Amino acid sequence: MCKKALGKSSERPQLRIIPRSEHNISRKNLSKNALRVLYGLKDAGYEAYLVGGGVRDILLGLAPKDFDIVTNATPEEIKKTFRNCRLIGRRFRLAHIVFGPEIIEVATFRGHHSEDSAGKNQSDHGQLLSDNVYGSIDEDAERRDFSANALYYNIADFSIYDYWGGVEAIEQRNLDLIGDPETRYREDPVRMLRAVRFAVKLEMQISERTAKPIKSLAPLLQNIPKARLFEECLKLLLSGQGLETYKMLMFYQLFQQIFPNLPELDNDKSATSRLFEQALKNTDLRLKQGLRITPAFIFAVLLWYQYQEAFAHYQQQALPDQDAAHLAISAVLDSGAYNVVIPKRFATTIREIWILQLRLQFSRGNKALKTLEHPRFRAAYDFLLLRAEVEPDLTELANWWTQVQKDNPTVKPAQAEQPKRRPRRRRRPAGKNVKTE
Ligand code: ATP
Ligand code: MG
Repeated sequence: MCKKALGKSSERPQLRIIPRSEHNISRKNLSKNALRVLYGLKDAGYEAYLVGGGVRDILLGLAPKDFDIVTNATPEEIKKTFRNCRLIGRRFRLAHIVFGPEIIEVATFRGHHSEDSAGKNQSDHGQLLSDNVYGSIDEDAERRDFSANALYYNIADFSIYDYWGGVEAIEQRNLDLIGDPETRYREDPVRMLRAVRFAVKLEMQISERTAKPIKSLAPLLQNIPKARLFEECLKLLLSGQGLETYKMLMFYQLFQQIFPNLPELDNDKSATSRLFEQALKNTDLRLKQGLRITPAFIFAVLLWYQYQEAFAHYQQQALPDQDAAHLAISAVLDSGAYNVVIPKRFATTIREIWILQLRLQFSRGNKALKTLEHPRFRAAYDFLLLRAEVEPDLTELANWWTQVQKDNPTVKPAQAEQPKRRPRRRRRPAGKNVKTE
């Protein structure tokens, strides 16, 4: 398929248009709604391309997680073209075309910032503060992160536009950043996390020049808004290869920047490391089996021993267990010591899982039956089983609860109350099967 070896993504772009007869992307690989949006834009007189993970994953023989579309229509023009469109984002203005549960994300080609606006638009660390200058497809291709992500499938003639040798990179499983890696990481440090995520998920090698600056630039993650880092964490840890991704994040010293309050993670024998790695392993397995998972669980695991330490501290002040627990939970969850913000609905679940650990320790008889009915019993019991894998002293207690459930098959946890949520305005959905309540 490749006519000649193309240059590295560090050199100038060289557009290669690959006609339909020379590649295997068919409209059958796209969702109906993605096609609707592509044709809607085309029929309204605009250019429209499938871009990014959609093209990349189909070429890799995988089913895309979502379909991203790019066009020369401005967000306002996109809104006029589709009734079911809403515009989102400030730093990066995008259109979401909503088809029930499926959201098709449409971006306008990004252009270059002019010389004098460039300074104003960048932080002291070189980070881009906004990215709403529109341009041509050629310019857009220079602003993408990896060559494998800069492929455009043109709905007008079904050809692929390849600017940076992305098709060849995919064939060689080479994950290579476009342009100078240090500059690109400074513009957006999240690209370091994306490098790790794609390397694991797509079984690609991070090219040497792309990998080289990561360790020294990892501290730049401190400048990323905590809410964005939380979303990235979900994608990194809950997409089915959490354990491997976590290990690579540790290798590149990236995870340590997100949770600087957990130095014990650097020691893989520490209780936190063992508990967290076991939880990631179990989560990967659950996702493989198509079972649901709740993101709160993984954060409850990660911060558990910190909570235990705070709990012991308040207990020493002769407070009743319940009071000590509530104070310890607030001290850990509200500490601001880590660089993600855990949304309230997840923090509530973490609180419940932790508080229930006390109840699992002490309730017997009728109280035990009441505990079985608690809406979060299942998560709390799973949490206890996990703890028992790391702390064998807990095996007896865990077995006791297993038996109580067997002996009382009709006693079931009550349905968890569904908190009212505002409609999701996230830029990108996290992995499938992730329960967000
Ligand atoms: P997946 O959806 O499977 O996680 P993806 O490559 O589609 O992978 P998205 O986050 O959906 O990732 O982004 C779509 C495309 O937008 C990417 O392929 C890339 O071209 C571009 N992109 C996304 N984030 C960045 C970024 N931080 N810097 C540069 N380009 C980006
Ligand atoms: Mg995508």
